[in-house]
Amino acid sequence: MKAKRMDSSAVFTLRIRIVLGGICLFSALLIIAASWTIPFLFESPSILYKFDIEKTFLRSGKVLGVTAAVLVFFQLLLISRLKFLDRIFSLNRIVAFHRINGIAIAFLALLHPILIIAAENFTIFPFEKRYWPEFLGIGVFIFILVLMTTANWRLMFNFAYDKWLRFHRLGTLVAIALMTIHILFVSETFKSGLPHTLVFVAAGINLVLISRLWYRRFFPGKRRFVVSNVELAGKDAYSVDVRPHSGQISDHIPGQFAFITPVSASVPKEEHPFTISSTPSRPDALQFVIRSLGDWTSKINRLKAGETVFIDGPYGLFSHMVSSENKPIIMIAGGIGITPMLSMLRYMADVDDPRRILLIWSNKTKEHILFPEEFKGIENRLQHFHIIHIITRDSGGENEIGRLDQTKLEKLLKGWSRKSSVFICGPFEMMKEMTRAVKKIGFSSARVYKEEFKL
Ligand SMILES: Cc1cc2nc3c(=O)[nH]c(=O)nc-3n(C[C@H](O)[C@H](O)[C@H](O)COP(=O)(O)OP(=O)(O)OC[C@H]3O[C@@H](n4cnc5c(N)ncnc54)[C@H](O)[C@@H]3O)c2cc1C
Repeated sequence: MKAKRMDSSAVFTLRIRIVLGGICLFSALLIIAASWTIPFLFESPSILYKFDIEKTFLRSGKVLGVTAAVLVFFQLLLISRLKFLDRIFSLNRIVAFHRINGIAIAFLALLHPILIIAAENFTIFPFEKRYWPEFLGIGVFIFILVLMTTANWRLMFNFAYDKWLRFHRLGTLVAIALMTIHILFVSETFKSGLPHTLVFVAAGINLVLISRLWYRRFFPGKRRFVVSNVELAGKDAYSVDVRPHSGQISDHIPGQFAFITPVSASVPKEEHPFTISSTPSRPDALQFVIRSLGDWTSKINRLKAGETVFIDGPYGLFSHMVSSENKPIIMIAGGIGITPMLSMLRYMADVDDPRRILLIWSNKTKEHILFPEEFKGIENRLQHFHIIHIITRDSGGENEIGRLDQTKLEKLLKGWSRKSSVFICGPFEMMKEMTRAVKKIGFSSARVYKEEFKL
């Protein structure tokens, strides 16, 4: 079969990403700044009849309140998996930003009532029916605090990922609904005029985004695939090949990932992210290589040919095609962190990439090495490609043994240009150590690309 070469317009260049990213951030800041004018331009009677420091406290409290509400509005935009945003920032970064934004919301939602009570000389509102919107606001704050805490410190609460995700999604819906009611009834400002309309516009956009998420869940359309093969690819790792149910596979670039949801008699119907390890140069099927490390992945070998899988993707920017420069490439992989490199190498072999490429791949044992024969084949096909295997837990034979650390890395990278692009993917601690090491050895952090297998 003739290999298909990717069209370079499939990725935004760094310059375009910087420009578009700048426009997105500037627009977000503009929306936030515009929201700050509301407590000034549409003063409620409570602000009108306050003076001096009390007026400043009350107005600042309201500014923080509207800022928190705008950031909540952004939260849904951030997790809506919008392709346009993914192409600029990459979904992994967007999810990380979603988490930081959540912490900022909780912080603002705490300061908002403190400043408002400060304007009343710290007199707490009496527990009367007419103050129900204020008490609802406290309820919203507690809700936000719980959502933020469980999202960031889920493991401390022994919360399984899938259960947490369901709780988080439902909790967010409830929090947004309660927050909208709080805003509409707590102050005269939002009871009429432009601010009132803006609340409905924001709620409407949120509703559209939520409906889009639900629609994609229940009407998979082109996302429906059929499992064509499942087989052992290395110790505790299985390759899963899938073909489109109808039509063609939409383009992906080597190194990207997708969310897969099986509809199977023996694997729970949960959505999990995995790298597309196949190459877009062979677009008739997709492959995922999954290591059995947890509850769900340990059941992946039960998936059978002929069963359905829904695929949402591709996402991400961890690819030699995004780094674009024609510089040598160094790949450092730990265990299953090889999958994005596998996709890139398969592609580079298919299109005879002329660059100098080095793969340093650390595995616990020789049995953990995936597709050893195929990797040897790629080494023969790609003229300037070389693999160094590191085995950490048993005798390595002809391979390097022991942990990969800065000293070993420096030795292995002797003679490699410090202007090379460096790709790192593997367990969290290893990635941290390798990132620090390559920077200390002299590689520019602008050319170090990382993919963490965690969203
Ligand atoms: C971009 C990306 C690419 C990945 N590529 C691969 C790959 O090619 N091969 C591979 O074997 N693994 C890959 N992973 C990791 C894989 O997604 C997790 O190992 C798997 O979801 C764990 O599920 P579990 O229930 O078996 O494990 P658990 O032990 O239940 O979970 C382990 C951790 O995985 C994460 N996780 C669990 N469930 C989900 C979920 N539904 N969605 C998102 N994260 C979850 C959580 O951080 C959790 O703490 C990738 C992850 C990401 C983010």
